[in-house]
Amino acid sequence: NKQVILKHHVSGFPKETDFELRTSSINSKVPEGSNGVLLQSLYLSVDPYMRLRMRRMEDPGHYFTSFTPGSVIDGGGVGRVLDSRDPNFKKGDLVRGMIGWEEYTLVTAPETLYKIEHNDVPISYYTGILSAVGLTAYVGFFEVCSPKKGEYVFVSAASGAVGHLVGQFAKLAGCYVVGSAGSKEKVDLLKDKLGFDEAFNYKEEEDLNATLKRFFPEGIDIYFENVGGKMLDAVLLNMRTHGRISVCGMISLYNSDQPEGPKNIMSLVYKRIRMEGFMVRDYYSFYPKYFDWVLPYIREGKVIYIEDIVEGLESCPDALIGLFKGRNIGKQVIRVAYE
Ligand code: NDP
Repeated sequence: NKQVILKHHVSGFPKETDFELRTSSINSKVPEGSNGVLLQSLYLSVDPYMRLRMRRMEDPGHYFTSFTPGSVIDGGGVGRVLDSRDPNFKKGDLVRGMIGWEEYTLVTAPETLYKIEHNDVPISYYTGILSAVGLTAYVGFFEVCSPKKGEYVFVSAASGAVGHLVGQFAKLAGCYVVGSAGSKEKVDLLKDKLGFDEAFNYKEEEDLNATLKRFFPEGIDIYFENVGGKMLDAVLLNMRTHGRISVCGMISLYNSDQPEGPKNIMSLVYKRIRMEGFMVRDYYSFYPKYFDWVLPYIREGKVIYIEDIVEGLESCPDALIGLFKGRNIGKQVIRVAYE
């Protein structure tokens, strides 16, 4: 059983040497006395928050449970049941949930697994648009921002897993949407394929405040925040009165031990802005409503879902590091085995 281990807690930019590939043996049956489920891993989700789990629990501002050095990394994924002592799962079932970065994984808390019911979409979608990633885009936009037709929406990390969905959801809501991303290829994708009204490469803009004034001469009603840092500061100067900022994440701060807050925070007062953070885990009860809403759009091709699938468990560390270099386009997924 090939496994990816975190060697030690990490500060600063993560490196491949922070991880180790190990091979261990695993029983082909769930041990007696356990109510666990044994899975073959098929697809693994690679997500920015995993970097936060590489920090020490004692680090200031810690929220997520840290990975234990020397242990297998875990995260979202899709697997096939090989053996089960839980009556809700049987051999051959496809499931999504928290699974190990390993070829075979014994899930000892089967209540965290969900059976995959729909079989007319690729099952890798259950690591992204049909998992917490898609739900994040849905609740972070509709529930947190209460969008109205015709409003001006700005999305950062717009070609990423969450961002490319938020932009398309905002178009479905009748908004005007601009996205920022880190390369020409990504900008072209947003404009030419995903229906964004405008997009720009933030790495080529010297003065983000001026850039946003150019794209939003009348100001921004809704900002979907994925990156933090300089972008948030520029956005704060360009919000409209009574604008909303949905704080989904701030990836530009994840490798910093002492991240700095925004300088233009007083704009919240002057412009009566509502800035609200959210955690998708508080919204899991929205899954049925979200699935009913999004599945027809996927089937009709009205929401385009982009995956960046890399082969092989050993690619996991490099793919995780790649998120912080902007290498992924769309959702970063690892294919461990074919269905
Ligand atoms: P993405 O697929 O968007 O991947 C990360 C992207 O972020 C990169 O491709 C890169 O794109 C961009 N990026 C990386 N470093 C920086 C930087 N220093 N400054 C600006 N942009 C950077 O990841 P996700 O869609 O999975 O996650 C997006 C955000 O949503 C993250 O902040 C994540 O933590 C958050 N999140 C929050 C959840 C919640 O419950 N609140 C749930 C899920 C995700 P580029 O080329 O544009 O630079």
